Amino acid sequence: MDLIIRNAHVRGREEVVDIGILGERIAHVAPHLKEHAPREIDAEGMLVAPTFVEPHIHLDKALISEVVRPNVSGTLSEAIAITWDKKRTYTVEEVAARAERVIEWAVQHGTTLLRSHVDVDTIGGLTPLKGVTLARERYADLCEVQIVAFPQEGILQDPGTEDLLRQAMAAGADLVGGMPHNERTPEDGRRHIDICFAIAKEFNADIDMHVDETDDPSSRTLQYLAARTIEEGYQGRVTAGHTCALAAYDATYRAKVIRLLRQADVQMVANAGTNLMLQGRLDPMPIRRGVTPVKELLAAGVNVSYGQDCVKDTFYPTWGQADPLEVGLITAHAVQFTMPQDIETLFDMPTANAARLLRLPAQDYGVREGAIASLNIIAAANAAEAFRTRADRRYVIRRGRIVAETVTTRKVHRTL
Ligand SMILES: [Zn+2]
Repeated sequence: MDLIIRNAHVRGREEVVDIGILGERIAHVAPHLKEHAPREIDAEGMLVAPTFVEPHIHLDKALISEVVRPNVSGTLSEAIAITWDKKRTYTVEEVAARAERVIEWAVQHGTTLLRSHVDVDTIGGLTPLKGVTLARERYADLCEVQIVAFPQEGILQDPGTEDLLRQAMAAGADLVGGMPHNERTPEDGRRHIDICFAIAKEFNADIDMHVDETDDPSSRTLQYLAARTIEEGYQGRVTAGHTCALAAYDATYRAKVIRLLRQADVQMVANAGTNLMLQGRLDPMPIRRGVTPVKELLAAGVNVSYGQDCVKDTFYPTWGQADPLEVGLITAHAVQFTMPQDIETLFDMPTANAARLLRLPAQDYGVREGAIASLNIIAAANAAEAFRTRADRRYVIRRGRIVAETVTTRKVHRTL
């Protein structure tokens, strides 16, 4: 063994276990391993879980709220407009530097695989892609980054973007992104989806779109996306993020769309933090939550994860530190998770569910013999305590190597 974690609490097991790591993989998971290793960590009953997978973040736009004007209306449309000026002045090195700050935060919080959407449009061209690509190369020792070529400004309403998307895919983007509801008409929204499928098939790439990120119940591109997924034989290869309008549909239509999502095995990402901030801005009281109906999706057997989405950008100014436990806490409040089983599901969302969403081989992910040894030792006894206290990720281990450590100290000074 190269590394042994002793006295680990692993979800679903009563007794604590020792985890023996050889090279990049978990060799043994059993109580009281007899072997020894040059490095041993006593977890003292702390929760040991596979490292987090961040399925939806925007590394290219992260932290720009530090330098641009505030988003006064708080809406998605103003957020997009504010980024235009900044995007025109992007340099590869500047984008990379912001992305790298957030990657470091993510790793410190126990995430070793991130999927980042990166704007591809006629304003910034391929500069955001080149910046995030540079950051991922420089940080390859800490984490992996998947890049989604994301036409934030639309495809049909931003002529030239279709060509840029192809260039982005040829230049190393992994997935084709989309934002069909942002086109001028529902017909253009459907053409947008058709173009994304055409490009994805050319590059044999998966698809991950921003879908119906609006309170408008007549925004119905999710249904078309799911139907096209089945027609193209892309089941399991398509992810839909945000999907706020799904929460605004009437119950009958929502149930129909959710059934179709299940049939198409569309992977879903809730982005509760950003959407609690952005949605319902035009509502009189009571203000809608604007968060996709996570409980209904899960109950229908749809695979649902959650993502940070934004870190201190124009969409989500002030907030975000790429911490899945923090996003989980926000998600739990947004979707009203309180029962013990809900909390276990909440922990699955950025771990097992997100790993499935990013199509990691099932045998590679988890606390089990043969899996890749990417593990968090979390300073909490169980998942509920981890979320409640946003506990330290005491050790973050990636492929058998310790990549981050955190110890927070707290003291009270009493006089009695
Ligand atoms: Zn997003």
